[in-house]
Amino acid sequence: MPRWCSPANHAALSRLRPGFKSRPGHFIMKQLISLKDCIACGDCCYYHSHYLHLSPILEKRMLGKKFIDENRQFLEDEGKYFRVRCPVKKSWNHYFCAFKQGNLCRLKDKRSFECKLYPFNIMKDREGRIVLGIDRDCRGLKNKTEKQIKEHAKYLKPALRRILKTKKFYIEEFQPELEIIESL
Ligand code: SF4
Ligand code: SF4
Repeated sequence: MPRWCSPANHAALSRLRPGFKSRPGHFIMKQLISLKDCIACGDCCYYHSHYLHLSPILEKRMLGKKFIDENRQFLEDEGKYFRVRCPVKKSWNHYFCAFKQGNLCRLKDKRSFECKLYPFNIMKDREGRIVLGIDRDCRGLKNKTEKQIKEHAKYLKPALRRILKTKKFYIEEFQPELEIIESL
């Protein structure tokens, strides 16, 4: 479900060269929602109780021991990765991600690949095919044309296909709230 890109996160990312890094598994992507597009509403950092099992994933191999030790209470151990806990109830069965702090993400550039991918989301469709969905509720999208959205989905496609060869844990279940925009 929605993931949040705060201005602070965008500022950190803007220092990074867009495109792919040669280090395997380390994908730095251009984000569709830029600093000026994101209104930092935080809507993409909370989860309905039905989707708590789809909270962000942090890959263990990308995290240092110090980071893990300091943040263990926020992380659910799921083998190759940690899943971020969402223990703080907002209202109407919605829970905030444990790393949300005011309008900022405490993880900054360590935040999940999925959080960086937002408003796109990798999931299965009703027939079990792997697709790229988009959350049209992101208010940053109002400044984007359909052409820009579709082009960005095409830009993401080859990298996502490559990543999913080894990281199937990023594939989420079908979510009818998301619009399917590209096959993967
Ligand atoms: S505008 Fe979109 S990306 Fe920015 S915080 Fe709101 S939902 Fe998240
Ligand atoms: S890890 Fe950060 S960006 Fe991702 S959902 Fe949590 S607070 Fe939001």
